[in-house]
Amino acid sequence: MNSYALEYVQQMTGYVPGEQPAHTDVVKLNTNENPYPPSPKVMEAVGRLSAESLRRYPNPTATPFRIAAAEVLGIGPDMIIAGNGSDDILTILMRTFVGSGGAVAYPVPTYALYRTLAQIEHARFVEIPFSDDYSLPAELASTNARLVFVCNPNSPTGTVILPDVLADFAGRTQAVVVVDEAYVDFADGSCLDMIRDHDNVLVVRTLSKGYALAGLRFGYAAGPRSLIEEMYKVKDSYNCDAVSIAAATAAIMDQKYRASICDAVRIERIRVIDELRRLGFDAIESHSNFVWATIDTPAAGQLYAQLKQRNILVRYFDEPGLDNGLRITIGTPEQNTTLLRTLGELLGN
Ligand SMILES: *Cc1c(COP(=O)(O)O)cnc(C)c1O
Repeated sequence: MNSYALEYVQQMTGYVPGEQPAHTDVVKLNTNENPYPPSPKVMEAVGRLSAESLRRYPNPTATPFRIAAAEVLGIGPDMIIAGNGSDDILTILMRTFVGSGGAVAYPVPTYALYRTLAQIEHARFVEIPFSDDYSLPAELASTNARLVFVCNPNSPTGTVILPDVLADFAGRTQAVVVVDEAYVDFADGSCLDMIRDHDNVLVVRTLSKGYALAGLRFGYAAGPRSLIEEMYKVKDSYNCDAVSIAAATAAIMDQKYRASICDAVRIERIRVIDELRRLGFDAIESHSNFVWATIDTPAAGQLYAQLKQRNILVRYFDEPGLDNGLRITIGTPEQNTTLLRTLGELLGN
């Protein structure tokens, strides 16, 4: 093949995000968005923006957000770096700590973007399979990776590794340990405290899931100054825009609202798991805003297609090890009822 693109880029497939249908009558349970709207304070903050604030370049380090987030998290603003979604933060991490030829390691199955980011950076990736109980694989400690990603709670499984286990691991490895807490708002614990006693631990969070702001594109990393400082050197100059900084600042200050919508999701999660099990799925306990449900017959791919025909979108991964399951985002009570009723019809009970 004759192409101007770099050889290793030609070899890549690129990340394939879940479908985002244009019409709005779909029961959309495929990309782990929050089913509730963002805090009204977010829309107020966006409405208050002046033309002047758009004429000028934004604050290059999202300072208003960092000051607000620092207060909420009980850390210093200089222990935080903001990004255009936490995906931007993950890219910054790869540039800062892995680089071309370096290795990154992570347990699988997990967030597929880690592999894509390694490919973009021309880095190596070491994928260590989870055991059946989804505990931290011991082999992760002996990979020579410069950085280890642990998605916690994990996607697509919804499982967690306890902070004590990760703290012990961080103490034993030479690698930078990145805990991707995209779903932490739906879980009971967090690894945030680890950044105080470990010079090699970073926690990455997003406003996309818990704060219902996937369209905004805002995420951040928290960690020791020594690591955050280096990350600042490789980020894009104005990686967060003025609109998103204003909105994200309002969102993080409204913790009461975040807790209320996440609690509503957690309550529904119990019902959805119970009902899926009643329908014959093997649905594991979830600490996230989705459920990983496996089934032998009918084939998960077939169920996915039948649901889609009926205007219900869930996530199906057509790849080895994941092709017997569906990742189902928890929606509103009405959406969940529609999904469960439809699955009942499809499964004939
Ligand atoms: C959704 C998600 C992200 C990315 O979130 P954005 O802030 O929207 O880029 C990162 N990691 C995991 C595991 C996610 O599921």
